[in-house]
Amino acid sequence: MIDINARVLLIYTGGTIGMVVNPDTGSLEPFDFSHLNSHMPEMDRFKFKVDHIVFEPVIDSSEITPEHWKKMVRTIEDNYDKYDGFVILHGTDTMAYTASALSFMIENLHKPIVLTGSQLPIGKLRTDAKENLITALEIAADKDENGRPIVPEVSIFFQNDLLRGNRATKVNADNFNAFKSYNYPNLGKSGIQIKYDKKVIFQPDYTKKTIFHYYLETRIATLKLFPGINKYIVETVLGLKDIQAIILETYGSGNAPLSPWFLKLIQEAVDRGVVIVNITQCEIGMVNMERYETGRELLKAGVVSGFDSTFESAVAKLMFLIGHDYNPSEIKRRMSIPLVGEMTRPEEKDTE
Ligand code: ASP
Repeated sequence: MIDINARVLLIYTGGTIGMVVNPDTGSLEPFDFSHLNSHMPEMDRFKFKVDHIVFEPVIDSSEITPEHWKKMVRTIEDNYDKYDGFVILHGTDTMAYTASALSFMIENLHKPIVLTGSQLPIGKLRTDAKENLITALEIAADKDENGRPIVPEVSIFFQNDLLRGNRATKVNADNFNAFKSYNYPNLGKSGIQIKYDKKVIFQPDYTKKTIFHYYLETRIATLKLFPGINKYIVETVLGLKDIQAIILETYGSGNAPLSPWFLKLIQEAVDRGVVIVNITQCEIGMVNMERYETGRELLKAGVVSGFDSTFESAVAKLMFLIGHDYNPSEIKRRMSIPLVGEMTRPEEKDTE
């Protein structure tokens, strides 16, 4: 139900949605927000109030850094009491990273934060921008019969799909349906109406305050396994000076080679206090290091399971936890429990 008294803050950070073609180079470049407004007179037809803030400069989302995430959180914190919901216009390339980061940085969120963007600039005839933006704004303003927001979490809305932000991944560089959440159901779907699946939407504790966090630490790296991976490369990544955590992208249910040199390097890194998180290269399913000998050895060495986390969510969660100065065993403990619905533990899956 749209609350006509609702106020939504639209935060424009950049991305294709507000881009224009540079006539000299033919490539897409960010344009200013008036471009968006002039191409979307529908903005004036909302029954509820929509204000906007434009980030300076607007950027392609490949340029996003944790500093931008902090700026987004700051903008939301500064405006938290004034608005019922927030829509962030963002490039699609790193949208899932931003959504994941915000989900950890804003603890016990009471209000919707919906990220959206588009595959075609708003000025193009066949653009997907209008539908994405209009529906995202409606989701941000939607309330239930008790006047509570229907989706009080960080979500991504893209071409009919409303997804949990820290479960989403960009899967398509060409088509309008660019995002998927493989391991968690859609929070909603838009058609003639927006249909929400309320039982899978995260509910905050309204008796407790929302807490905004700003500490992020970027000394993390990723090591993606492939057959024939070179010992020197593995040694270099695992031995990086001052590295705090490594995401090990493994095969299948969390498997890696049993080569003694490989396991020794993993063990040495763990012993030095590096947190190694096991994330599968498969899109669907979860890490279970007990299933095969090839996973069990990693478990024995002290590698922590990322279960069915997306890569994006694991990156953001590690930055968040390391930023909070927890020691390695506390980081490992928190990596293996869901903080904001970002992963499913096997026992939860069994009872589904
Ligand atoms: N490169 C663009 C970006 O992520 C793509 C997009 O917006 O869809 O900012």
